[in-house]
Amino acid sequence: MRVCIVGLDGVGYIQLKIWTNRIPLRNLREVAMKNCFPTTIIPPYTPSSWTSILTGVNPGKHGIISFCIFSRKSNIPRIRLNSAYEVKYPRIFEMLSFKRARSTVINVPLTYPVSSIVGKKCITLVSDWTSPRQFIWPKKIYENYREYLVDPPYDYEKYNDIKKYIDHVNDYLNIKLNLYLDLLECESWDLYVIIFSELDWIQHKVPEIVLGRNLFMIKSILDKIDYFISIAREKCDLLVVISDHGFWIKDLELRVNAVLRRNNLLKLNRYFEIVNKIDTILGYNLLPRLINKVLKRFRRHSVFKALALKTIDTRVSDAIMIEPTSWTVYTKRIEFTKKVLQIPGIVKEVHESSKFFWGRHVTELPNLIIIPNDNIIPKLNPFGKSIVKTFESDHSPRGFLSILSSDNDLNDDVSYFTKEHVTIYDLVPTILHYMGYPIPLNTDGKVMPWALKQREKVNVENYLLKYNFRKFLKYKSR
Ligand SMILES: [Zn+2]
Repeated sequence: MRVCIVGLDGVGYIQLKIWTNRIPLRNLREVAMKNCFPTTIIPPYTPSSWTSILTGVNPGKHGIISFCIFSRKSNIPRIRLNSAYEVKYPRIFEMLSFKRARSTVINVPLTYPVSSIVGKKCITLVSDWTSPRQFIWPKKIYENYREYLVDPPYDYEKYNDIKKYIDHVNDYLNIKLNLYLDLLECESWDLYVIIFSELDWIQHKVPEIVLGRNLFMIKSILDKIDYFISIAREKCDLLVVISDHGFWIKDLELRVNAVLRRNNLLKLNRYFEIVNKIDTILGYNLLPRLINKVLKRFRRHSVFKALALKTIDTRVSDAIMIEPTSWTVYTKRIEFTKKVLQIPGIVKEVHESSKFFWGRHVTELPNLIIIPNDNIIPKLNPFGKSIVKTFESDHSPRGFLSILSSDNDLNDDVSYFTKEHVTIYDLVPTILHYMGYPIPLNTDGKVMPWALKQREKVNVENYLLKYNFRKFLKYKSR
């Protein structure tokens, strides 16, 4: 059984329905109409969500809640980037490698460095946009395709001209598509996983697309993805199309670090404290604007260092937000922080991570998770007012999971048997079972009932044990 998982980063259930209604896209329309189920993802954030989807467990077990991690083990707190080393649960392609089944894995976050991927002999890997450098594994394949490794245009904030940006994304996808199709054709694989990030970047840049306006801007990108799906369908028995989160329009920003600062939970560095005081007395309000500008420019990687390490004194602060889309806060004073963040009309709920997530690594996650109202975008800026008007689009928790087979009987089964709510954790156990392999012992998902009709007996295996052992050997040899 060959399975293909196509990830559409940031394409929500609502967006998929609107877009495929208004643009003629033969395959994506089928994805939206046949066996397409809504999912809820909290936090609606790329690194945690894709890791949950591909491990079948929640962040308390796989340990990933954001791109960065705030380590308080030493005297001086450090912020560093997560990598494949920090993923504490095997992903489906690693589980399959234990069974000698082959995977082709393209654009999946936290697959760098290759040396920390377990079972890499069974895996062909194309780096994702967050990777410090673009690569293809193994080397033999890299040599054939090196000219296809163009830099991903995720830095949409740098473009003033929307059309230029979209043209750039189009060119990028044009080049990359050759690589994706070739690997689909030429490599021997049992599982093919690919994530398309283009629509996430563009929705950040052009908010009205989220509401289904000006769709001509993304037509050519959707056409390419639609074409890819048409080819992929011919090559596999089962095609899954899935998203990691949706998008929604935000009209208010909640400056979480400003709330923390106002309540004496967060302290600025002395230099910024003085500059800020003068700025406030003069009434220029330059600092909040300047910081917003800097944040926008470096919003991906250096942002965290730029803000959290430069303007905030992490050594004396009791609480801090490091990545806004992770919706999480580190704090030493849990009850008080919880209280100040419970802002009526702005924040729906605040939970301790251990009440929301579960598993061995839950204590390593940030202490609190806030769930804002749909129109609220959390921000890092520690200066100025806590709540500020805005107009932009950002991640929302509503994603989708869609299953398509060339076998019409199977398609009927999927729609007939799927009565229960579908979660993103269901994908891994369902696919493994469908392919004839055991499901993970401590998965947070379930085998979807349609797959049980294909094969009744469910086998279980402790993939985590093997994974930990292999990782241990890797660490030792490092
Ligand atoms: Zn995403």
